[in-house]
Amino acid sequence: MVVVCLFTMLFFSAIVFADEIEPGVFNREILTVGISTDRCPVFYIDKGSNEPVGIGVDLMKVIAEQAGYDVEFRVIGEENLKAALDNPEYDVVMPFGSAIDSAAGNASIVTDNLMQTPFTLVTRKEKMLPSLNSIKVGMLHSLSGVAETVKQLFPGMEIVFFNTMDESVKALRRGEIDALLHNSFVWSYVLQKPAYDDLAVKPSTIFSMDFRVGTLDTPEGHRVIERLNGAIAVVPDTAKQGIIVDYTTRHLYHYDIFDYIYEYGQIMLMIALLIIAVIVIAWQRYYAFKLEQEQKMLDYLNRDPLTGTLSINGFRKRVVELLRKYPDTQYILSYNNIKNFKYINERFGKSAGDDLLKFWADKSLEVMTDKEAICRIESDHFVVLRCAGGDEQLSKDGSDVMDQVRNYFIDRHKDSKVRICSGIYVLTPEDYQTPDVDHMIDFARVTEKRVSENLKDSYGFYNPEQWEKGMRTADIIGNLPLAITSGEIQVWYQPQINYETREIAGAEALCRWNHKKLGFISPGEFIPILEESGLIYDLDCFIWERVCRDLERWNRQGIHRSVSVNVARCDIKEEYDIPNHFRNLLKTYELTPDQLRIEITESAYADNSDIIIDVTKKLQEYGFEVEMDDFGSGYSTLNMLKDIPVDRVKLDYYFLTKSGDLEKGNIIVSYIIRMVRDLGMKLIVEGIEDVSQAEFLTKNGCSYMQGYYFGKPMPVQEFEALDI
Ligand code: C2E
Ligand code: MG
Ligand code: MG
Repeated sequence: MVVVCLFTMLFFSAIVFADEIEPGVFNREILTVGISTDRCPVFYIDKGSNEPVGIGVDLMKVIAEQAGYDVEFRVIGEENLKAALDNPEYDVVMPFGSAIDSAAGNASIVTDNLMQTPFTLVTRKEKMLPSLNSIKVGMLHSLSGVAETVKQLFPGMEIVFFNTMDESVKALRRGEIDALLHNSFVWSYVLQKPAYDDLAVKPSTIFSMDFRVGTLDTPEGHRVIERLNGAIAVVPDTAKQGIIVDYTTRHLYHYDIFDYIYEYGQIMLMIALLIIAVIVIAWQRYYAFKLEQEQKMLDYLNRDPLTGTLSINGFRKRVVELLRKYPDTQYILSYNNIKNFKYINERFGKSAGDDLLKFWADKSLEVMTDKEAICRIESDHFVVLRCAGGDEQLSKDGSDVMDQVRNYFIDRHKDSKVRICSGIYVLTPEDYQTPDVDHMIDFARVTEKRVSENLKDSYGFYNPEQWEKGMRTADIIGNLPLAITSGEIQVWYQPQINYETREIAGAEALCRWNHKKLGFISPGEFIPILEESGLIYDLDCFIWERVCRDLERWNRQGIHRSVSVNVARCDIKEEYDIPNHFRNLLKTYELTPDQLRIEITESAYADNSDIIIDVTKKLQEYGFEVEMDDFGSGYSTLNMLKDIPVDRVKLDYYFLTKSGDLEKGNIIVSYIIRMVRDLGMKLIVEGIEDVSQAEFLTKNGCSYMQGYYFGKPMPVQEFEALDI
């Protein structure tokens, strides 16, 4: 019994006690509130807790608490609040300015006002707004309920809806709308975004909206609304203001990557550039380092570590490079060897031998240029590629390098003379075209062997004729400018005869060179050399000028002569403009065009290039007679005469008849004479050495001739004497 009493007492006292601690704790209902969370700071999702927070949430919590509800917030899935009203999952939905019909057309009821929400306009900073009744305003779709109230307040205002804040801002910037409308709390959040710093709130609040909780107009709805109204009435304004101030003064906006780019774009760009610059510099350094390493490796492969001269590998490469780069330089390649180097090593020690080799390499390098190369091919054997500088250079090298090496030990007070043997190979034109360095070295090595067997000489040539030729070439090329000015080069004249009248019909100007070192040299030797080296134009200009001067003098003496001048193939270049060059000469020396006949050798016509045909035509246009020289001496094809517009053909009789069957040669000559005549061209035959040839030609219809029979080329004074 006692136990039953005790238990009963305890039960009732527990009920009383619980009632005292928290009234209604046993009958608290859960109030489900539907909200949309895209209105920071009124409703939004807290990033940390992932729970809905904001002014509206806190306010509702306070009111629900007061009303004895446990409140649960749900984010609405509907497009807007109007539609959310119809969803039975929510007991109430918020916020509403006033009671509106639901999307399904059901009437709704709302609580008393929780707070006033000010709505303000935002526009671009510098923008002045016209009257509110005539402006175009942008709003978010989710505020369509508010828009209805706005339309009632400002019937003249045009409202355009946007899905997102960004879209609405873009439209504002493009000038499609005058301002954006939203509640001031939201603006306090949105305008924290750096990219919106060109926007400004228009300070005067255009209107205030109530902030109410709504639900469908049902009995249950009425019950909830009434209960909430009871709570709203007792929650003090200060509590509400506290919540508002708390949220509107926080920096709630979270920067995204674009905000950072906008805000710190320039700094980030500079940092990026800096990083790129650092990477580029680091890469360049690395690349330079790599190149340096490769170069060192190459050097190691291409250099002789003892003397610093090239290794055979490096030498081969360098020689090919040099021959390609300097095809006009006459090179020699020498193979040099110290006789009995073995004994030097034995007698003075290996390091003394090494010192001698280093000394030799240094002395050689001292006299050499970048155009030359030296290599230690093995122990005491050096191979050198050197520009051929004639006998003087050989003797200078002898004293500057070889003698020093020969006396190396004597100069160091040791009684031993070093004997060096050298074999020299003079490079031929083929060596430049297809350089085979090993072959050249072999030729020089063979010669060195021969020299070393012969106790008298210290050097010898593998191909002395080539050496001679090379030296003559160097003498010809090197002396041309001086020879022109000093009178070594002269114009000689060979008469051209009209055999029928026995009169002198003209002359051919031929150059003669009495070389100060080589003596009298024939054009057959120096003309091809000058052609190859590109110097022939200098010589020809000089000759043409001299001829014109003589013609002018003869004109002044009352003798009107015609002279044939030779034009080399290489003179026919666009930049030389031969036709105008001759025209200018005529002007300068007051000559007529018939006084200069232009001989262009048939070999030049052989390639039938456009330029030679153009030049020929131009010369004819200027009144000159153009002659095809040396016809029959090699390149001619009969077809050529058809295509080339020359005035006169100069047949080389000597060439056509010098070998083989004379009779057949004469038959050919007679047919050519006929053919040229039938083609309407003039003809002169050169190389006439005796009377029978002259008679034969006359019989066959050619009376213009030139040859030793009538007179060899002669100095101008002799030629003038002829004519008298
Ligand atoms: P080319 O123009 O055919 O000159 C004729 C050559 O034949 C001349 O040789 C002349 O001396 C030679 N000759 C003349 N009559 C006879 C003869 O009866 N029998 C033989 N066997 N030969 C005879 P040269 O003076 O030694 O000139 C050789 C070539 O050099 C010329 O041939 C011409 O192509 C060229 N040449 C000469 N002087 C000049 C010049 O001032 N400028 C240019 N570009 N070339 C020139
Ligand atoms: Mg000629
Ligand atoms: Mg000729």
